[in-house]
Amino acid sequence: MMYEFRVSEMAEEFGVHRNTIRNWINAGTLPAKEGPGRKYLMKFEDYQALCEKFGREPLIKPSSYVDLEKVQKYEESKGMPVPMELGYTEKTIYSDAEWADTCMTCGTCASACPIAGVDGLDPRKIVRMAVLGMEDELNEMNWPWKCTMCAKCENACPANVQIMALMRRLRGLRDRDLVPGPIHKGVVTCLERGNNLGIPKDDFVFLCEELGEELEEEGLTGFKTPIDKVGARVMVTVNSKEPFAEPDDMKYWWRIFHAAGESWTIPSENWEGVNWGLFSGDDESMKTVVGRLVDNMRRLKCEVLLLPE
Ligand code: SF4
Ligand code: SF4
Repeated sequence: MMYEFRVSEMAEEFGVHRNTIRNWINAGTLPAKEGPGRKYLMKFEDYQALCEKFGREPLIKPSSYVDLEKVQKYEESKGMPVPMELGYTEKTIYSDAEWADTCMTCGTCASACPIAGVDGLDPRKIVRMAVLGMEDELNEMNWPWKCTMCAKCENACPANVQIMALMRRLRGLRDRDLVPGPIHKGVVTCLERGNNLGIPKDDFVFLCEELGEELEEEGLTGFKTPIDKVGARVMVTVNSKEPFAEPDDMKYWWRIFHAAGESWTIPSENWEGVNWGLFSGDDESMKTVVGRLVDNMRRLKCEVLLLPE
């Protein structure tokens, strides 16, 4: 079912400026196409989704239903050989910015940002640049990488612009070779070797067993590190920095589990609890790492996943 509307009607219905509706249409954020009589057409489901975004009930009038024959004739008269597809959203930073066009440039985000001004960082400017389609400029600048992703800007925004999603999308656009710092290298190492620092399985298992023996000597009678224990209730993940540099930190957790009588285990492989794809904007790698944890959960038949990090 199609919904037919005038830009002015839609603007009034959603309480935004008519230019905002045009911008949404041009950017693909609002999947609509031009129809006869200076009206636009969109799928009813897309109209419903828009209503949901604005937290309101759909206000469809019977006169809004479309005569599809009329549309076809119009497209033929305009010499459109293939009818334009509806529901197509071009993948741009703008369309991923989730209604960035609702930004009123009020600056509340900038005043909420704890690092506004560091290297000139200004979330309001980032949102404006995204709305204006300045993808290349945004891709080259370091602001998205300075951002701590604390989300204070987004929480403060009166227009519900998803600034965090925009920041992550910008990070994801950068060539992987140009991702600053070690985070992308950590992602690659994790994909290749199961954890961000590439600790071999044998070394990890040896360390865990050794720490378990120490705990036993320190008074936890009968303690043995439960590695790959099938049927444990909780599967515990580990930040690779702990076995690498601060192994004693793991023992604090284990003492608590022991005192609580918890049934828990650590997988011998793919135990990394820190997913650096989150920080590098790499959704595909994130998905792979999460998938491995899920596989471990299934293999060990655990009920609860613990990410102490
Ligand atoms: S707080 Fe929201 S509406 Fe205001 S400038 Fe920032 S993004 Fe725009
Ligand atoms: S998420 Fe980034 S831009 Fe937003 S307030 Fe935090 S540091 Fe500032």
